[in-house]
Amino acid sequence: MGTAYEERRGTLYNYRITLYGNALAWLIHVVFFVTFLQLDVMILAWSNVASILYYTISFYFVHKRYYRTFFIGLFVEVVYNAIISTIVLGWDANVHYFIIMVAYGMFFMPNVNRGTRVATTGLAMAIYSSLYLFVTEGTHLLATSIEQALGLFCLLSTIGLIAGLSFIFEGSVVEVTNELERTNERLHTLASRDGLTGLYNRLTGTARIEDGIQRAVQTGQPYAVAIADIDHFKAFNEQHGHDCGDLVLRQVAKTLTWSDAVCVRWGGEEFLLFLVGETENDINGRLDELRRRINATETIYEGCRLHVTMTIGVAHRSGSAPEAVERLVKEADDRLRAGKQAGKDRIISSISS
Ligand code: GH3
Ligand code: MG
Ligand code: MG
Repeated sequence: MGTAYEERRGTLYNYRITLYGNALAWLIHVVFFVTFLQLDVMILAWSNVASILYYTISFYFVHKRYYRTFFIGLFVEVVYNAIISTIVLGWDANVHYFIIMVAYGMFFMPNVNRGTRVATTGLAMAIYSSLYLFVTEGTHLLATSIEQALGLFCLLSTIGLIAGLSFIFEGSVVEVTNELERTNERLHTLASRDGLTGLYNRLTGTARIEDGIQRAVQTGQPYAVAIADIDHFKAFNEQHGHDCGDLVLRQVAKTLTWSDAVCVRWGGEEFLLFLVGETENDINGRLDELRRRINATETIYEGCRLHVTMTIGVAHRSGSAPEAVERLVKEADDRLRAGKQAGKDRIISSISS
């Protein structure tokens, strides 16, 4: 019915519940058959033979995953047996408890709307009330100890079955919830990260930088946004191929994450970095260290040792008013272009430019 959650939940518990439920019902009726045969209550012994036959056929319904047929058959069989057994053995034999169990079990029936479930519960309540009002003594008197044993068996197995059903149901809900959480995590990663490098994408990166700026402003620390762009990357791609270029981009991203900067893949071979430091010089020093590390990183591709350089434009800020990321990016971009014009492989910061 309806939601994907319900369908998924259904597929998880249906087979288990129906298979175990069918096997258990089959076994219980074998026990009942032997018991009533011993007690010489032939009407119930034959009634249980019919139930055993039904549950033998019902294994086929389970196998074929005809869950609706299975649950309807189960409901009719249990209610019928509970009625006849209560009339024959009397109220104190407690066979009527199975009506409670099966009414609860109806809530596990797949592809059934709420109305049908409520109607079934109503029917079970009506039958239960009628038995309660009209049956006291049975038509076949049992010895007190046997009546007590039977009464206890019916009571305990009803409690056990309700607990068992709840246990399976709860397990299925946990399983589905875990699956949803895993999917959520995967979707979150897909939505917030760049597929090639694993760095933040533009949207998430900008939000992270905005958060970082807020925190830096609160603590009164200087901060900076830097754009790092690989030099001559077009030519690099043309010379070594796009796959090699991708490998370099991943390697550069890995080197960038060595720092504690917020790293964003801003465009093709452009990365945005956000750093907080003690002073502007401290931030510049860390960026230069990054630039040197990238220079020194070798990418080995088809036996060749390759390396790239980067030019970095930086926009520094400090003070009590948070700056817009857009403005910082624009400023850093202007300095990046200045750095490219000045010969590349360098840092141009707001101090030196
Ligand atoms: P400059 O030194 O001035 O930065 O020159 P450039 O060649 O690096 O700059 P340009 O903007 O002309 O070229 C950027 C190149 O980056 C173009 C494209 O081939 C490459 N590129 C962009 N995205 C990707 C990518 O995802 N994978 C690979 N392999 N290359 C990319
Ligand atoms: Mg470039
Ligand atoms: Mg570029």
